[in-house]
Amino acid sequence: MKAAVYYGPGKIKIEERPLPEPAKGEVLLEVKACAICGTDVRIYSFGQKNVKPPHIIGHEISGIIKKIGGGVKGYKEGERVVLVTSVGCGRCEFCLQGRPNICPEVKAIGYFYSGGFTEYMIVPEEAVSKGNILKIPENLSFIEASLTEPLSCCINGQEYLNISMADTVVVIGAGPIGCLHAQLAKVSGATKVILIDLSEERLKLAQRIEVDTYINASREKPVKRVLEETNGKGAEVIITACPSPQAQEEALLMSKIRGRISFFGGLPHEHSHISFDSNIIHYKEISVYGAFASSHLQFKKALSLLASKKIEAKRFITHKFSLKEIEKGMNMVKEGKTLKAVIVME
Ligand SMILES: [Zn+2]
Ligand SMILES: [Zn+2]
Repeated sequence: MKAAVYYGPGKIKIEERPLPEPAKGEVLLEVKACAICGTDVRIYSFGQKNVKPPHIIGHEISGIIKKIGGGVKGYKEGERVVLVTSVGCGRCEFCLQGRPNICPEVKAIGYFYSGGFTEYMIVPEEAVSKGNILKIPENLSFIEASLTEPLSCCINGQEYLNISMADTVVVIGAGPIGCLHAQLAKVSGATKVILIDLSEERLKLAQRIEVDTYINASREKPVKRVLEETNGKGAEVIITACPSPQAQEEALLMSKIRGRISFFGGLPHEHSHISFDSNIIHYKEISVYGAFASSHLQFKKALSLLASKKIEAKRFITHKFSLKEIEKGMNMVKEGKTLKAVIVME
C-alpha cells in the first residue's frame, strides 16, 4: 500500500508499506478520501509539537472497513464510515459529558495516532471501543463525507451562539471553515450573512456559497461597513475564522448589544495576545466563546446535514488530488487557491 509520510516541515514522501494487520480490538480501514485541513498545511509547513515525524497526518477521513480485529463488536467489513478525530480518556467530566475534544488527555487521529493520508490505516483500539467509527448515510459519497470533520467543528462553535431567525451573522475569514460557518448560519435561520476577507481571490471562491454581503477588508474598513449594514447597531453574531488578532479585536467593535462572538480560529502562539476596551463587553453584555475540535454527536449532526443536502458538500469542494499529488495540494491550499481540497485514493 502507498502512504504519504511526513518527515518534518516541507517534507512528505510517498512510500510503499506492507498492509497492516488489525490486532485485537483494532479495525483496518481502506481510506477512500481525506480532505486537507488548514492544520495539515500548518504541520506540513512549520511542524507541530504533538506530531513526531515520521508520521502520517490527515484527519478528515472517510473509507471502508476492510478487516476487523478480534473481539470488535458493532462493525462489519464493507461498511462505509468516517472517523471521529478526538479520542478522550473516557473517564473525566468532559468525556462523561460527551465532549472528548476538550478532555485534558485527548489524543487525536492524524496527530497522536496515525492519520488518513494513506491507502490503508489501523483505527486504534481506544478509538474503536469509544465509538469513533460512524457509518456514512447511503446517499453521501466518500468525497462528500470527508467534509464531516470540518463541519462538525463549525457545529461545535455555533452551538454556543444560538443563531436564530433575524440574526445578522458576520464571519471573518472566507476560507473553507469560514464558508462552512456562513452556510451553517443560514441553515440556522440567520437573515443576513456577511463574509469578510482580505483576499479578493478567496472572496471570489466564496461566491460559491452565496451569502448576502461580501466585504474585502483590504479595500474598505470592515467595522464601519458592518455598522452600515446593520443600521448602526452591529451584528448579533460574529465568528472569527482566521488566525488574526486584529479580526478578534474588530469582532468586539462590530457586536450589537448582547452580541455573541466566537473566537473560532486559534492565533499563532507568538501573536496570541489582543487588546481591547473591556468595558465594551461589560456595558454591551457581549459574550465571547471559544471552540476546539468536535464531539461524536456533532459528527452525527454534520453527517445528517450533509446527507440532507442542507449543507451541499459539492459547493465547498473545488479541488481533488491523488495521494501522489499531496504536496501540490498542500501548497495550493496554503496559497489560498482552493476552497476545500480533498485527497482521493485511486
Ligand atoms: Zn480538520
Ligand atoms: Zn477525558
